[in-house]
Amino acid sequence: MFNAEDIRQDFPILNREVNGKPLIYLDNAATSQTPQQVIDVIVDYYTNYNANIHRGVHSLSQEATDAYEQARIKIQKHFNAKYAYEIIYTSGTTHGINLVANGFSSLLKAGDEIIVSALEHHSNIVPWQMLCEQTGSKLKVIPMNQDGELVISEFDAVLNTNTKLVFVNHVSNALGTINPIASIIEKAHAVGAAVLVDGAQSSPHIKADVQALDVDFYVCSAHKMCGPTGVGVLYGKEEWLNKLPPYQGGGEMIAEVTFEKTTYADLPHKFEAGTPNICGGIAFGAAIDYMNTIGFETISNYEDELLQYATEQLNNIEGLKIYGTSKHKTSVISFNVANIHPYDIGTLLDKMGIAVRTGHHCAQPIMDFYKIPGTVRASFMFYNTKEEIDQFITALKKTVTMLS
Ligand SMILES: *Cc1c(COP(=O)(O)O)cnc(C)c1O
Repeated sequence: MFNAEDIRQDFPILNREVNGKPLIYLDNAATSQTPQQVIDVIVDYYTNYNANIHRGVHSLSQEATDAYEQARIKIQKHFNAKYAYEIIYTSGTTHGINLVANGFSSLLKAGDEIIVSALEHHSNIVPWQMLCEQTGSKLKVIPMNQDGELVISEFDAVLNTNTKLVFVNHVSNALGTINPIASIIEKAHAVGAAVLVDGAQSSPHIKADVQALDVDFYVCSAHKMCGPTGVGVLYGKEEWLNKLPPYQGGGEMIAEVTFEKTTYADLPHKFEAGTPNICGGIAFGAAIDYMNTIGFETISNYEDELLQYATEQLNNIEGLKIYGTSKHKTSVISFNVANIHPYDIGTLLDKMGIAVRTGHHCAQPIMDFYKIPGTVRASFMFYNTKEEIDQFITALKKTVTMLS
């Protein structure tokens, strides 16, 4: 049986105090906390087998290489990729998206079209704008509605045989909306377009099966899945990864180098120039093991309970408005109270030990749609509890009284 109180024992940081109050960490959509099981793997790496990988004949290098490649296989199995070499280590979601955008600059021509959703993170908008400038392609947008859902009929309207690429996040970081990616992928494929899914916000809550989805590219970051910062993966179908040119030149990504010509290494090394975040990759594997031990169904059921509970409590506060009211949501709640600035609420909550995020959440187009400067965002993970939500609500009510 799942018991959040037991699970919390795995997270040493949850025992600390902030401003003299027990920490209540509700900023999980920005980064998740790290369990002792993953911290141990990081300490073990630097204590016992820190070495550069792939190049060494000595034992430490081989141990590090084995652990790094074993982690790749864990990640492959987790996302059900067909081959381990379809998993490219990156420094995170942003890097993965830029890698694909850069690769497409040699495949696109003037008149081609790229479709992005109105719910994107800035990291999923800027690279496509840059790509369009370079290639003369056009950027089209799938608009959103008041509930924070994509208007799929508008997607149908902009999708055509000029569409070469569709970019959509699986879950919006600002609102928590779960997008219908399976049907988006199917429709895009019907006109011959490739699809990149940004899984940064879904991967901590929903286990994606890249083969069942038939997605062409999928990116995520370890630090939102109980792993360390500075590491993530790009999944790409073999045929697509072979079509894309390398992203960066350097050691490890070459087969043969002369001053006349360089031939590139096979997948995945073609995209992994230089010394990677070795410890991070190994720890990412450990984080995935940790989450799978609890189980993604257990995690999402429990988080749904937290989401419902918190939504009900928040809706009882006068003047409070929740942005993002789709029926299909992960445990993210964005809101404002009357005319109080989100920043002021966040600052006072911090004085009471409560961590929330305030601002535009790297999703300014969504804020523009609602005509607001930003929101307060509370986001829950499986180690949060209803008691914490009660304390958050009490503190929020106090805050609102102080500020109105
Ligand atoms: C966090 C996030 C990103 C960026 O991830 P990084 O780890 O900062 O590269 C991109 N998209 C979404 C939806 C996110 O939540």
